[in-house]
Formats: sequence, C-alpha cells, structure tokens
Amino acid sequence: MRVLIVEDETRLAEAIQRGLSAEGFNVDRADNGIDGLWKAKENAYDVIVLDIMLPGMNGYKVCENLREAGVWTPVLMLTAKDGEYDQTDAFDLGADDYLIKPFSFLVLVARLRALIRRGGGDRPVVLRAGDLSLDSVRHRVQRGETELTLTPREFGLLEYLMHHRGEVVSKTQILEGVWDPYYEGDPNVVEVYVGYLRRKIDEPFGRRSIETIRGVGYRLAEGG
Ligand code: CA
Repeated sequence: MRVLIVEDETRLAEAIQRGLSAEGFNVDRADNGIDGLWKAKENAYDVIVLDIMLPGMNGYKVCENLREAGVWTPVLMLTAKDGEYDQTDAFDLGADDYLIKPFSFLVLVARLRALIRRGGGDRPVVLRAGDLSLDSVRHRVQRGETELTLTPREFGLLEYLMHHRGEVVSKTQILEGVWDPYYEGDPNVVEVYVGYLRRKIDEPFGRRSIETIRGVGYRLAEGG
C-alpha cells in the first residue's frame, strides 16, 4: 500500500512514517503543498494524508487541485483545532475523511485502511445508498424518484452519514463533522436531527435506513 504524507511538521511526519512503515505501508513524504500536489499527481498512491496548514499551498488547495485534475486518490485531512477551518469545507473540496490533531495512531491506521478499502476510482458526484441519493453539488436528495426537501442541517447530517455509510459513527463524530468541533450545546441535538431525517427519508417510504446502535451512535445502511 503506497501512502503519501503531506505534512510540514517534521517530527509528526517522521512519526507517522515510522508507524505506517511498521504496519507494512510504503510511505512517501512531502513537506509542502506544492511538492505534495506534484507527487500526488505523478504517482499512484492508495491514500494521501494531507495536512491543512502547509507552506507553499494549503491542504484545501492541494485537494481541490487534485480533484480538478481528476485524481480521486482517497484523502484524509489533518486539521488543527484552531477553529480556522471547518470539516465541512474539507468534504466540499473533495476530502474523504479528516482527523483532528492530536490523534491516536491506531485511529489513523484504521481510517486509512477503511479509505483504501473504499478506494478512489472515478468518483460519482452523487452519493448513493440503495435508492437514496444525495447530490452534493446541486444540493438534491432523492428517495427513488421522489425528491426530498431537507433543511441545510439535515442535508449536512445526511451527507455525513452517506460519506460514512455502513460504518457506525458516534454522536461526537457527528457533532464535530456536521456542527463544529467547538459545539458546546446539548449533544442530544444529534438525536433530534436524526429524528427529523428519519421522518423525511425513511418513514414515508416504510424504510429504516438509519440504525441506532445503542450507546454508540448511528449507522446508515449501505443499501439505504
Ligand atoms: Ca502544518
């Protein structure tokens, strides 16, 4: 498995490289955005770990440029908890997942393996889970042929669940990914919005696509 790490903090980059090499990954590194973009375009990686704050070109630009060039290698973004950027931006610009620093190495490896399994390929703009489809660009959601009207927050939540379809995501992950890492309100807001979503995407169709995993979180069924 070939991995590219684009990270300017040398000690962190070295630590990730050592750890991933020990896990059997073949690791390449770039310490600025311009080199990172060049390497990502020139070589066939299975996954890319991309920091956001980088000299030369920031991670968002690198990701955007890659996708514009038709390179769909899965990208995991590393975000600092400085509040300057939003995870939703990362998804909008074509990232596949993100981790907030500091992160556990085990979690990083698990996420990378999941991304590699999912693969890049010619990614459709439209996310699908069975007959449920979500068009991120045109902001449209359909169940079969029926077009559904969602509020922006409901849309964000469904988009997040669809990005992670088949996986269990915790309320905390949802809060961080759909609300923001600093959200300090009632975490039950997630439950409330999952309820709203179910009333729109499931109940009218006699479906149960969003599963509650008690004490853990939620999972959107792969088959919608
Ligand atoms: Ca950095």
